[in-house]
Amino acid sequence: MFDPVSSILGHLLFGSLIGVGVTTIANIVTTVYLHRGLSHRAVSFSAPADIAFRAVLWITTGITARQWVAVHRKHHAHTDTDKDPHSPAIHGWMAVQLRNYAMYRRAATDPATVDRYARDLAPTQLDRILFDRSLLGLGIGVASLVLLFGPWTALIASAVHLNYYIAASSAVNAIGHHFGRRRYDNSATNLQWLALLTAGEGLHNNHHAAPTSAKLAHRWYEFDLGWMVIKPMTWLRLARVRLDDLRISTSRVPNATGGA
Ligand SMILES: [Zn+2]
Ligand SMILES: [Zn+2]
Repeated sequence: MFDPVSSILGHLLFGSLIGVGVTTIANIVTTVYLHRGLSHRAVSFSAPADIAFRAVLWITTGITARQWVAVHRKHHAHTDTDKDPHSPAIHGWMAVQLRNYAMYRRAATDPATVDRYARDLAPTQLDRILFDRSLLGLGIGVASLVLLFGPWTALIASAVHLNYYIAASSAVNAIGHHFGRRRYDNSATNLQWLALLTAGEGLHNNHHAAPTSAKLAHRWYEFDLGWMVIKPMTWLRLARVRLDDLRISTSRVPNATGGA
């Protein structure tokens, strides 16, 4: 006999699981490709890996790579000053947590940001035809979920993914510059629980100390899923890590006010 309650619960559970899976994939692409790869050139990728990352980024986030890179490089250039696109030291951590997406959009859509910080990533033919069309990418992503799992599961998965991805990315910029441990002398913090939710990004104090390092875990007990993806890719010659050792940056960034 048809039981509507267990049917709804089943859709909710399965849809949430799929949503978490999609966000995990999007988080891996964001940290490995957009962040460690394109933004900091800590790791480079073979042409097939590069195109695969771009395609997955496109259908899971709709992010325009050169915009993300430009905003992120600006964040490193002006960390926790009034020129930082999303600083909790300036705006307060709660404002960045809740408004990070708007802050990102504001910086990303300013042509001066991309012009200054992402000159090396001029749009290619493929960008113009496909990857710059964010809504088309997201539409293909949602349509794929509908085809694979049906409309209800796809709807729930999309809602979970949207909220999880935005909340976790915002948390790196907000919580990851306010609460947590500061092993190195910079305003970012390390939070292992956030690193688990963001494929390693929560080890943000480590990252600001060594931005050219492809590995964000600096101690044996720190877990960095992004590095777990990069390492086997190097064995398969799909990726190449720029530096073998950890280069701790000597340029000190100002300490954020507040936080532990
Ligand atoms: Zn930061
Ligand atoms: Zn960075």
